[in-house]
Amino acid sequence: MYDCIIVGAGTAGLSAAIYCTRAGLNVLVYESAVYGGQIINALDVQNYPGVAHTSGFAFATSLHDQAVALGTQIQTEAVQRIATHGDFLQIEAASQTIDTKTVILATGAKHRTLDLADEQRLIGAGVSYCATCDGAFFRDKDVAVVGGGSTAVEDALFLSKTCKSVTLIHRRTGFRAPDATLPQLRAQKNVRFLLDTTVTALHGDTALESITVEHVQTKDVQTIAVQGIFVAVGQVPANAQFSPPVALDAHGYIIAGENCKTNVPGVFAAGDCRTKVVRQLVTAAADGAVAATAAAAFMHQHE
Ligand code: NAP
Repeated sequence: MYDCIIVGAGTAGLSAAIYCTRAGLNVLVYESAVYGGQIINALDVQNYPGVAHTSGFAFATSLHDQAVALGTQIQTEAVQRIATHGDFLQIEAASQTIDTKTVILATGAKHRTLDLADEQRLIGAGVSYCATCDGAFFRDKDVAVVGGGSTAVEDALFLSKTCKSVTLIHRRTGFRAPDATLPQLRAQKNVRFLLDTTVTALHGDTALESITVEHVQTKDVQTIAVQGIFVAVGQVPANAQFSPPVALDAHGYIIAGENCKTNVPGVFAAGDCRTKVVRQLVTAAADGAVAATAAAAFMHQHE
């Protein structure tokens, strides 16, 4: 029986693990893929208070190493279900079912797709959701980046250093990315902006060869030759396996307030997976601390 099982080894989950272990709780973290979560792909993190400048990879690695050094165990496996069982909770994974006194869900969110006909077929053959992972395959090639947030702007800048050309395609003229990040991108001679524009089709038999784009207002259509398209259009949560018993909102986020409490006693939600206004590194870390403290209090109240 664990005191706390944490689902997800991103910023929220690993921060929760640090707080739980320091509070003396016996903790297991489940992670379906690689630790670090979304931030591991960020090239440059400049908005974490007290850390003027770091890479997402360095940040995630430091968080992971800190949690492990404090005694956190990490199990690489997807959690399939949560169940209530008398006075305790059960976590079901493929290999085993484990009893625990509390659970912290910190599953983050996954890449949103463009929902285009050939998108899934061309993943790994020109379609990518991670510029830092796949950018090297497109050296001296023509590529497109889709999106208007920080990820899209960072990806376009990163790719402009090695690709022949980068076309940044965004469905509006206004960017979600902070204004301060745009001048550097605009200064790159091999970057062009296609604004008020959406991607409507991907073409290529065995690999991506071109894309069709459409202007939102004029409906003008053009085909652009690109060998790579980097989709950076935000994230969606992936919490369906926890409901029921955990209540989700209409978009799939776990319903929980600033105290991280869900509708299930002993189950807490931390970070981007829960209903919240600001989804940032610092709010994910803060949620980890809040959820861990609440889990420890819950456990002690029920002992
Ligand atoms: P985001 O801020 O949610 O931006 C997603 C972008 O994709 C928006 O411009 C959105 O357009 C567009 N979009 C959404 N669905 C689309 C669709 N179906 N077709 C075309 N375009 C679509 O996502 P993000 O850039 O991944 O950033 C997520 C969070 O991580 C943010 O809070 C961000 O600040 C943070 N982040 C921080 C760093 C850093 O600190 N270095 C780096 C990366 C990300 P609209 O604007 O029209 O909605």
